[in-house]
Amino acid sequence: MDYDELRRTMVETQLVPRGIKDRRVLEAMLKVPRHLFVDESIRHRAYEDMALPIGEGQTISQPYMVALMTELLELKGDERVLEVGTGSGYQAAVLAELAREVYSMERIEALITRARERLRSLGYDNVHIICGDGTRGLPEKAPFDGIIITAGTPGVPEPLKAQLADGGTLVAPVGGRFSQQLVRLRKKGADFSEEYLTPCVFVPLIGEYGWKE
Ligand code: SAH
Repeated sequence: MDYDELRRTMVETQLVPRGIKDRRVLEAMLKVPRHLFVDESIRHRAYEDMALPIGEGQTISQPYMVALMTELLELKGDERVLEVGTGSGYQAAVLAELAREVYSMERIEALITRARERLRSLGYDNVHIICGDGTRGLPEKAPFDGIIITAGTPGVPEPLKAQLADGGTLVAPVGGRFSQQLVRLRKKGADFSEEYLTPCVFVPLIGEYGWKE
């Protein structure tokens, strides 16, 4: 399998035609080896236009959704970013290419073990994976310039809004248990501006300020 070729085709056929424009995002998507973030048995499918299973009933998001959510954060390179929902660690790796420091929270230990191992072997030493309920955020490392929630939530958890820096951006799939809409919040002083973007489907965010088990 020529994975570099599959990755170039993914960028050219799935991302560029759908409007992903940020050069740095496209370069990160060209660089991060997505096939190393899924089980060996489905590696050959890693660059397909869909989400894929990563075990424990969870999924790695579709490449386009990863690129879109990343682009919406408008990262320049110096940010500290919080991700809620580490999963495979793939989105965290993409963020690590584009921001200074990435904190990523996950509630399932088995996924954390695998994600840490992958990120370490790929040399991403600016990603910190934390086990816990990401709906509470990570107050000891706040405020964050960017926050990305990669699981579907009934609403944006209040602690995460509080942990966003002034001028910061939060992207999340908000809505029902089985389908959501991508939302971008920007914090300006005590106010938040809200943009409702594309429909999407994510596994549920489970925790104190998300869905109950
Ligand atoms: N970003 C991931 C995909 C995430 S799938 C990737 O690139 O592969 C959503 C993940 O959110 C799942 O792994 C799920 O276990 C996790 N999750 C759900 N609720 C959570 C919570 N309250 N805190 C942290 N992680 C949570």
